[in-house]
Amino acid sequence: MALIDIRDISRRYTIGSESVNALRSVTLQIEKGEYVALMGPSGSGKSTLMNILGCLDTPSGGTYTLNGKEVSRMTEDELAEIRNKEIGFIFQTFNLIPRSNALDNVALPLVYAGINKDERDEKAKKALDDVGLTDRMLHKPNELSGGQRQRVAVARALVNDPSIILADEPTGNLDSKTSSEIMSLFEEIHTRGNTIIVVTHEEDIARYAHRIVRIKDGMIESDARNPNITRADRPLTENA
Ligand code: ADP
Ligand code: MG
Repeated sequence: MALIDIRDISRRYTIGSESVNALRSVTLQIEKGEYVALMGPSGSGKSTLMNILGCLDTPSGGTYTLNGKEVSRMTEDELAEIRNKEIGFIFQTFNLIPRSNALDNVALPLVYAGINKDERDEKAKKALDDVGLTDRMLHKPNELSGGQRQRVAVARALVNDPSIILADEPTGNLDSKTSSEIMSLFEEIHTRGNTIIVVTHEEDIARYAHRIVRIKDGMIESDARNPNITRADRPLTENA
């Protein structure tokens, strides 16, 4: 059974009398532990698909089964729990809280998860250690470089130990050196067993992924293993 199983998904946006078919009949299965790049030109429907995969948006048609459960049948509470505990989100614009330091930004999802302050701080410190920001924990976003800000966002996405990481153009605001640092970090996270889905329109970024799905005009154009990655995905092991 695939971790993510979407069938015949469509998404139509209506503004006044205009309507846009952002996705039309998208069918896609993603297994646990895969590292997938979703590629396509601007306006092709990548973010729309990502938002649906992350349970932030609902499709106009089709079915989405996540981990064996149909998303449309989940209650608001179940959805909130999945967004908070099962999925880590990373965005192009980092989406950090400007007035909070790195530690508090990373600890925020744990507040929503109802974890006490000591445990929150401990987990947030560990997550910041893991992304190489041990010496920047008390810095606010404007006291950090772009790459460091995105590392804070990665730490925040990982702090609840989610199984799926969804990143929408994570390097869109970074220079190429910093971008490759962030992509190396994703590689490491993938090696630890996470499922990673990265949206990008840059070939340089997609080449890190093990599978590349291309979308165009709201439809899947191609879906193939990345020929540049010779190492096979590690064998899928069930959680003990
Ligand atoms: P991408 O991320 O590939 O650039 P999007 O998924 O953001 O593409 O957008 C796909 C299409 O849907 C575009 O034509 C865009 O203008 C339209 N669209 C996206 N979000 C909305 C929205 N909230 N309301 C109306 N149209 C939207
Ligand atoms: Mg987008």
